[in-house]
Formats: sequence, C-alpha cells, structure tokens
Amino acid sequence: MKPLIIGLTGGIGSGKTTVANAFAAKGIQQVDADLVARQVVAPGSPALQQIVAHFGADILQSDGALNRAALRQRIFSQPAEKDWLNALLHPIIRQQMQAELATATSSYVLFVAPLLLENQLQSYIDRLLVVDVTEQNQIARTLLRDGGSEQEVAAIMAAQVSRQQRLAAADDVIDNNAGPEQLAAQVDALHQRYLKLAAKHS
Ligand code: ADP
Repeated sequence: MKPLIIGLTGGIGSGKTTVANAFAAKGIQQVDADLVARQVVAPGSPALQQIVAHFGADILQSDGALNRAALRQRIFSQPAEKDWLNALLHPIIRQQMQAELATATSSYVLFVAPLLLENQLQSYIDRLLVVDVTEQNQIARTLLRDGGSEQEVAAIMAAQVSRQQRLAAADDVIDNNAGPEQLAAQVDALHQRYLKLAAKHS
C-alpha cells in the first residue's frame, strides 16, 4: 500500500531542514529530492557514465565525482546540452523518487523538495506543507547559516516562487517566524493530524 505522502517545501532559509529533522525525530521517513538528484549521478552510476561519454572525462573531478560547477558552465549558454542532460536525468530522478516514496514504511512519509512548486512535483504528493517565514527572516537566517551577501540570497529568492505563491498552494502552513518551541508545537500538532489522515489513507 502506498503511504500518505506529505510534500515539504519553503524558500531558502525558511526552516525546511529544521522541520524535516523534527519529523524524523518522530520516526517519519523522508525522501529528499536534492539528495536523490545527487545520488543518481554518484560515481559508478549509469547516468554518470553517460554524462562522461557525452561531455568527456574532464567533466569529472580528480576523485571521480561529477564536477557540478563545470557541468553548469557547459550547459549554461547551450540550451541543446541542457535539454540533453534534462532528458537523461529527469526520468531517472523521478523514477528513483517514486520508488523511495512507495517503499517507505513509516505511518506517512515526507517528500522534502525545496523546488517542489518550481519543478511541478505536486503529482507526487497527497498534501503540501509549506514552511513560511517573512522575507526579512529568510534573508537574515540564510546569511547567518551560509555567509555571503544579501544580494546573493536575494538572487536565489528571485529564482524561486514567491512567498504568496507558496502559501496559495499550501494545504498546511508552519509559521516559523518565532522560536524553536513554537516550531516544535506546530510539528507536534501536524504529526497528530497526519497520523489520523494516514490511518484513513489507502
Ligand atoms: P532551509 O532548509 O529551508 O534552507 P534551515 O532549516 O537550514 O532552512 O534553516 C535556516 C537557518 O535558520 C538554519 O541555520 C536554522 O538553524 C535556522 N532556524 C530554523 N528555524 C529557526 C527559528 N525558528 N529561529 C531561528 N533560527 C531558525
């Protein structure tokens, strides 16, 4: 039986990882879209072999892992190369995400995808949980975590859907503007709600 799948998304620095960890502490399994995207091109994978055959061995780092910066550069101004790469990777990534979601054994499963809406992955999930913070908090927390400049964070935010678009798509919202205790209370309440929904899910 396919488990109930809760999509978890939010902008950069909103608190997705923090929220996902809180659900994990309750024994809820998760599938991380970014992790899957990295795993399918791990050393030894068929996809990486095809990338090397296409772009040449200098697309690899000296340790044999994919040089993502070099790959980004190669496809940046070449739409045909980007299309080739997407045609190769998207089906593999989607198949792997689906396989992992389908075999989860916890009462429900979280599908953590920062770009869930941007990449139109709604068909994978039963409900969407959005972690929401003000843009000021988003910028301040990202700078505190990653360093860098406010302009860099603003550029990443500009490439993501807006706060309003995310909220409009949400079934459930965690307001993460306050501190860890308020966050924990919201996760507790949602967990109880999801357990009830999972019991009815077939
Ligand atoms: P995301 O995964 O969405 O990018 P993170 O979970 O990494 O976001 O959170 C961004 C940063 O903000 C992290 O350093 C995290 O520890 C911090 N953080 C998360 N929630 C709160 C909160 N309620 N109050 C203060 N800092 C927070």
